[in-house]
Amino acid sequence: MLPGKRGYFGRFGGKYVPETLMSALDELEREYLKAKKNPGFKKEFDFYLKKYAGRPTPLYFARNLTKKFKGARIYLKREDLLHTGAHKINNTIGQLLLAKRMKKNRIIAETGAGQHGVATATAAALFGCECHVYMGQEDMKRQALNVFRMALMGTEVIPVTSGSKTLKDAINETLRDWVTNIRTTHYVLGSVVGPHPYPKMVRDFQSVIGKEARAQILKEEGRLPDYLLACVGGGSNSMGLFYPFFKDKVRFVGVEAGGAGISSSKHAATLIKGGIGILHGSKSYVLQDSDGQINFTHSISAGLDYPGVGPEHSFYKKSGRASYVAVNDKEALAGFKMLSEIEGIIPALEPAHAIYQASKLAPKLSKKNIIIVCLSGRGDKDIDIVKEYL
Ligand SMILES: *Cc1c(COP(=O)(O)O)cnc(C)c1O
Repeated sequence: MLPGKRGYFGRFGGKYVPETLMSALDELEREYLKAKKNPGFKKEFDFYLKKYAGRPTPLYFARNLTKKFKGARIYLKREDLLHTGAHKINNTIGQLLLAKRMKKNRIIAETGAGQHGVATATAAALFGCECHVYMGQEDMKRQALNVFRMALMGTEVIPVTSGSKTLKDAINETLRDWVTNIRTTHYVLGSVVGPHPYPKMVRDFQSVIGKEARAQILKEEGRLPDYLLACVGGGSNSMGLFYPFFKDKVRFVGVEAGGAGISSSKHAATLIKGGIGILHGSKSYVLQDSDGQINFTHSISAGLDYPGVGPEHSFYKKSGRASYVAVNDKEALAGFKMLSEIEGIIPALEPAHAIYQASKLAPKLSKKNIIIVCLSGRGDKDIDIVKEYL
């Protein structure tokens, strides 16, 4: 099973970090492997996912969408119904439980739009930890409500003024903090990115999505689906859905942010348009220029607006296990409107990309085929942005 001991998925992954972080990563890996084997940890994790976050989430047969496209049967995995409104809480609860085991009571995290920051602040409040979240100054302005939410839960939000003042700069600052405060501090990374063991660990915590979906579709349809669709930012909701189906004859489609179009420079389609490079501690596909400088990215959805992607996705792309497509801002808005109007579900702009892709795929398939789409989050956070565009 991948990754191997050194944290590689084929040629992707690894630990490209300063010497001072190596011991913390080793400690984290040791604790994680120990916890993974410990039935007590699993019990505790399951307890909080169920009683606090609201799992299992429903696998909903989208009757109206299915009818409209006259093709494959479309199911939605409803991560939007979780506490805090997205899948990110699965990971932050898992990591906070680990931090407690490591006796690290100081929590730090990065955030872009604030979704991961809010999920971390939530788990930190739940488990009584001190929490500091790094956020680009630009992002703080755009997402003032999430800054306030974090403050309400007792988290300090620290503005980042370097570089483009957005997510990638916030990650750099968080890594700097970690180097300085390594003995007392755990870094809660928000996706399947970063140095080993994060991509593996976050995947495992998010795999609850796919495990549930697998059991639910078998119960409802008596067979596995033909396609799984999910949006890919860093890649955690998609990997969480895909991974438990790895050995099955099920096709995986990852949907990246096409922004203003992938022939422009304003997009975040890392796997489709990027090259192999190193960003935030691991080797993976990266959007970079010919000197290896990281490109600016754009997407209507903040959660997909990231120039990197998890190494396991790079491995899936190279090996052909998954295919990746881009959906642009306009199409994502169409997906957003469609789901709102037809099913009465207002999705986050991130999974609206996957909904749009499902609307293209379903009519090409037969009525016997089954598609599962990961509805990674709800749309409340995006209402202002959508209002501006429409
Ligand atoms: C953050 C976020 C994403 C993107 O992150 P992944 O790690 O790719 O899952 C997708 N959907 C929602 C609702 C998010 O908040």
